[in-house]
Amino acid sequence: MQKLQHFINGEFVNPAEDRWLDVFEPATGKKYAELADGCEKDLDRAVGAALSAQHEWARASADERARLLNRLADLVDANHERLVEAESKDNGKPVRVAGLVDIPRAALNLRFFAAAATQFASESHHANGSINYTLRQPLGTVGCISPWNLPLYLFTWKIAPALAAGNCVIAKPSEITPLTATLFGELCIEAGLPAGVLNIVHGRGSEIGKVIVEHPDISAISFTGGTKTGADIAARAAPKFKKLSLELGGKNPTVVFADCAGSNEQWDAMLRDVTRAAFANQGQICLCGSRIYVEESIYEKFLGEFVERAKDISAGDPADPDTRHGAMVSKAHMEKVLDCIDIAKQEGGKIECGGERVIVKGRCENGWFIAPTVITGLSNECRTNQEEIFGPVVTVMPFKDEHDAVRLANGTNYGLAASIWTQDVGRTHRLARDIDAGLLWFNTWMLRDLRVPMGGMKQSGVGREGGFEAMRFFTESKNVAIKYE
Ligand code: NAD
Repeated sequence: MQKLQHFINGEFVNPAEDRWLDVFEPATGKKYAELADGCEKDLDRAVGAALSAQHEWARASADERARLLNRLADLVDANHERLVEAESKDNGKPVRVAGLVDIPRAALNLRFFAAAATQFASESHHANGSINYTLRQPLGTVGCISPWNLPLYLFTWKIAPALAAGNCVIAKPSEITPLTATLFGELCIEAGLPAGVLNIVHGRGSEIGKVIVEHPDISAISFTGGTKTGADIAARAAPKFKKLSLELGGKNPTVVFADCAGSNEQWDAMLRDVTRAAFANQGQICLCGSRIYVEESIYEKFLGEFVERAKDISAGDPADPDTRHGAMVSKAHMEKVLDCIDIAKQEGGKIECGGERVIVKGRCENGWFIAPTVITGLSNECRTNQEEIFGPVVTVMPFKDEHDAVRLANGTNYGLAASIWTQDVGRTHRLARDIDAGLLWFNTWMLRDLRVPMGGMKQSGVGREGGFEAMRFFTESKNVAIKYE
């Protein structure tokens, strides 16, 4: 059985207490590896390695840090097939998705922040015979904790700016999807990344995750995951005054106005993207649009065509290049999503399609698949429309007018993203102002530019990632004032 070890001080090591967790392939439901179940001793070892490497890495030139990040990006590209297969096996996502989205984006994250290392600059302020300039220095050793839904994509999205800014990193990928991060350790050796600069520790959030948050020598935590976990991290980090970036859950609205399309092509493009926003990665993307609001006059037409599209998405073996809809990440998560569907029924929801586990014949007959599910007839206030489900489950509801649409879209505790479909330019600007979301997309979904601030409002998070926002997060600013007159 394959053993996935910690990567500490430039080498793979066994967990101090020789404890291991089971790792499963979601498509088959079978255990395929064992994962180091880290504890405080493992973390101390990793932090010790980071502290030893910290001084030299902080003083390495931006060019040198950029060179190494670019080298890692090249190695991700060179290992594309292997990483795609690994991501798909570990997470249950189709190889097609891992190949088009996850692994190319991991390489892009590394390249993007390699460039940021060389482009990042600070401010100076001149007045009254004095100059103030701001130093932006690395924080030292930082913790990066990432989730299972986009494993290598989000792992690199955090570690790349942290390293680019000159920090040493303790990274903890999700214990549910640890494979590609482990393979990334091998690439670090091949790239010649100095030992201790990046340490990857594995294990449960409730064990090693907690001690990362509390460790006195880790000065910042960049976390992406669930809102409940974020609250726990915030509570434990606050008394230690750590810098915190929290990218949390979402319950994102998709709002479709009657004027969403000026042609049949635009209508089709809208339906295609709304369907993608609903079910991409089996609905396991924090940015997925899970509450769909449609203007009354086009509600019936939209619903009919949308449900047809949802029915056309059939679950299949993620290893098959033609598969568009893969497995749910774990048995526990599949059961949670099925429970949410039961709750929706109890709340009076009508299942328009899906609503159940799917058996994929052959190799995957014991896999954890759920059909794309569309539910109607629910109020905005019910649990189904208030709580994040994080699966291929969406609700569709009619709205009367723009005012009503804003009220419904803003009617949850979350505020991560929104996708709005209208051809009215004035309305676009009004809704950009009025909708509570950190990311607003008009006539598109998931259009990403890595320079823009990425993050959520309300219970979707605190702080922003992306571009120089991330570089600022991973540095401490010091102001230097000099009087010369
Ligand atoms: P999770 O919160 O259960 O776990 C995320 C990571 O935190 C894992 O590595 C886990 O081991 C660790 N962890 C768990 N408990 C911890 C604790 N008490 N202290 C420290 N670390 C702990 O989330 P998940 O189930 O892996 O991911 C799904 C969630 O992530 C969804 O809510 C989704 O919306 C959210 N997400 C948000 C974004 C975003 O950018 N806002 C992106 C992707 C996913």
